[in-house]
Amino acid sequence: MGLAGKDFGGIYTVKPLGLIKPSGTEDIARVIKAASRTSHLTVAARGNGHSINGQAMADGGLVIDMRSTEENHFKLLTIDGSPYIDVSGGALWEDVLKRCVSMFRLAPRSWTDYLSLTVGGTLSNAGVSGQTVKLQPAPDMVRRIRIVYSEFEEFTRDSEFLVTREEGASFDYVEGFVLSNSDDPINGWPSVTLDPDHEFNPAHIPQTAGSVLYCLEVALHYSHSDHASTVDAAVNGLLERLGFIRRLKFQVNVSYLEFLLRVKQVEEHARANGIWDSPHPWLNIFVSKSSIVEFDRTVFRKMLKDGVGGPMLIYPLLRSKWDERTSVVLPEGEIFYIVALLRFVPQGPSVEKLVAQNHEIVKWCNKEGLDFKLYLPHYQSNEDWKRHFRNHWSRFVERKFSFDPMAILAPGQRIFKRTHVNLN
Ligand SMILES: Cc1cc2nc3c(=O)[nH]c(=O)nc-3n(C[C@H](O)[C@H](O)[C@H](O)COP(=O)(O)OP(=O)(O)OC[C@H]3O[C@@H](n4cnc5c(N)ncnc54)[C@H](O)[C@@H]3O)c2cc1C
Repeated sequence: MGLAGKDFGGIYTVKPLGLIKPSGTEDIARVIKAASRTSHLTVAARGNGHSINGQAMADGGLVIDMRSTEENHFKLLTIDGSPYIDVSGGALWEDVLKRCVSMFRLAPRSWTDYLSLTVGGTLSNAGVSGQTVKLQPAPDMVRRIRIVYSEFEEFTRDSEFLVTREEGASFDYVEGFVLSNSDDPINGWPSVTLDPDHEFNPAHIPQTAGSVLYCLEVALHYSHSDHASTVDAAVNGLLERLGFIRRLKFQVNVSYLEFLLRVKQVEEHARANGIWDSPHPWLNIFVSKSSIVEFDRTVFRKMLKDGVGGPMLIYPLLRSKWDERTSVVLPEGEIFYIVALLRFVPQGPSVEKLVAQNHEIVKWCNKEGLDFKLYLPHYQSNEDWKRHFRNHWSRFVERKFSFDPMAILAPGQRIFKRTHVNLN
């Protein structure tokens, strides 16, 4: 079975018929044509297999390893005077980064947090991050800052203030996470500091703080040639407008590559501790601004107050930055939040229990009528998919039938059943 029968989630395993390593589009077309001549074969593209719920798998079908096409394209283009990079869908973001910087001193502004994902696998799901837009001259350095809040309303007000400011008038990156208000090494205060020399002194936490705290993480790009006082002035000019706990601020200066590859370090650490290859029952939800306070009150402050054994990300995104032509479905309103429960499970505790907790959270959101949508969704029934897509369902079905009428592709998403149409 090997690579093609499992993924990062570690929850599902299947037995594919075969794994194909194409050298280009012609090989891929040949595989799909061969499958179309059968009544049952399905074909799944596999990027780097970092899905959680078997989305890149094909049970009894053919899996195409897109990584084998990663070297096929890498070209700098100029469109309407702006630089663009044309890369293969099978390329890893980290390779795109290294090649863009070393060959052209340019870099895309938009990055996922973790770069060992393929471009195709990310775009097929949408792709979210705390930094957006097009190719720019690659910065040299980044000031990375974490600030802590005890009040959710202040945390959301400030993070919304930062993401709604014009480009160039805010930080280059804005994300955030929730932590347990405790000394737990993974879920609590120690998860905030950025350097072994930093000390998180809990004496600075106000008495009014509840079971959890909120950390806003921001970053500003700068150049080697900038004087430290210029960078300080730019950073402080923004920070002084924010209402965080003044004594709980942590910052480091790192190279641009080190900043973008920060999750790689987490990976190395997790591998050393044996938790990278264990199951990851993750849950990603988009929650609208109108529902996020209620979500915090029950989910973070009560259900998850002791943490999830990994980051609990939360930060605002803007609907106007999304391309409505994709199949991603968003909650209502211009501002909504990504909530990502990135569980790292040491060997032992029951994965089923954690999956059940994810279900409980989603069930509670439905019961309370929260405005939310799952990101990287995974449903068992057709009715659930219809509910997910809402009024976008008919457009989605129409597209499926025009581009993939026999539902050969993407069987791991479990939305459509393979059919057979005799094309002769
Ligand atoms: C540690 C970690 C950090 C992450 N951070 C982020 C983040 O910051 N932002 C974010 O948005 N997501 C993030 N994700 C989620 C990630 O984007 C998705 O899991 C994505 O699917 C993984 O990419 P992949 O290359 O492994 O795709 P796979 O899991 O291999 O595939 C995902 C889907 O895309 C399809 N697919 C793959 N390649 C192609 C292709 N070339 N053409 C057409 N379809 C294709 C597959 O059939 C499947 O349906 C993270 C995941 C992990 C494990």
